[in-house]
Amino acid sequence: MSAHLIATHVTRRYGPTAVVEGVSLDLEPGDITALLGGSGAGKSTLLRLFAGLEPLDEGEIRLGGQLLSRPGKTVPAEKRRIGLIFQDFALFPHLTAAQNVAFGLKSRGKEAARAIAAEWLERLGLTGRADAFPHELSGGEQQRVAIARALAPEPAAILMDEPFSGLDPALRGSVRDTALAAIREAGIPALLVTHDPTEALESADCIAILQGGCLLQQGKAADVYMKPESAAIAAALGPVSRIRAVDLPEGLAGQAVPAGAELIVRPEGVVQDEDSPVRARVTASQLTGPLCRLLLDCQGRALTALVPRITAPQTGADIGIRLDPALTFIFQSADS
Ligand code: ADP
Repeated sequence: MSAHLIATHVTRRYGPTAVVEGVSLDLEPGDITALLGGSGAGKSTLLRLFAGLEPLDEGEIRLGGQLLSRPGKTVPAEKRRIGLIFQDFALFPHLTAAQNVAFGLKSRGKEAARAIAAEWLERLGLTGRADAFPHELSGGEQQRVAIARALAPEPAAILMDEPFSGLDPALRGSVRDTALAAIREAGIPALLVTHDPTEALESADCIAILQGGCLLQQGKAADVYMKPESAAIAAALGPVSRIRAVDLPEGLAGQAVPAGAELIVRPEGVVQDEDSPVRARVTASQLTGPLCRLLLDCQGRALTALVPRITAPQTGADIGIRLDPALTFIFQSADS
């Protein structure tokens, strides 16, 4: 049975400034948890605390029953059995792909190390590339070698800092799917640091949202998306339209919105419905792939909608709209 990797009330300060503050996060074996936040939110610092690359000022970090960090004590990174994967791959340039993967397996003996490395290269679709040096590999191949190298020693947990963001977008999806499938199969806690809400939603089982060093919400990815606890969380997971109660177009909300509150709706929650008495004018219509993104003017308020291409109206059209209550959230606004 793999152990949970758990941070409890963890704080890290640089001088007087807390860059991670009172964070508690339970990483479950077999789950990929995305740590999502903007630049400077404290994501990398929290990852470095889990990894043992930095001491913490308050709280503790445990792997199952084992204490890894508390103020005044930091089990060094190399003694934690935690695999690390960074954006820049960090392969040894003078070693082949197979030698890179075998590097952490010296205690297993040469033959066993070679066999295990070959197995991991195969799992990550790199069988034919075992003897290539890093400079002979594409970015996607290098990152898959880095992932094989991190997983081969059977770590107790894995931490990834923006591991896919350096890859060509055309490659990113397939490298990510291969890598994350191998990580899930390992059945260990995994943390994926990312600033990209789409990546978090597409890849993670759980999402933890960090802002200004504080954890705003954590939970199953679909729950955080469908049940955000604040306007900031709703907005952190993708584009939203926000309208204050006083500015709400007549009949749009379909429910009572208290004065001083704010209505937030995801673009796919703005539904085209010709039976609706609420009308909007299409000010822009842009095909973005399978869906069409509409900018709407509804009684002077701007809304963004995502609709199937096949039924998408043209710019200038007058359409009926309604809001899907499951994708519409009402919060007291921060400035009310
Ligand atoms: P993120 O990964 O979310 O972009 P970081 O964890 O890298 O955020 O940084 C969080 C904050 O801590 C930033 O404001 C950054 O400037 C600051 N910071 C990070 N490392 C140090 C350091 N070694 N000394 C002082 N400030 C730091």
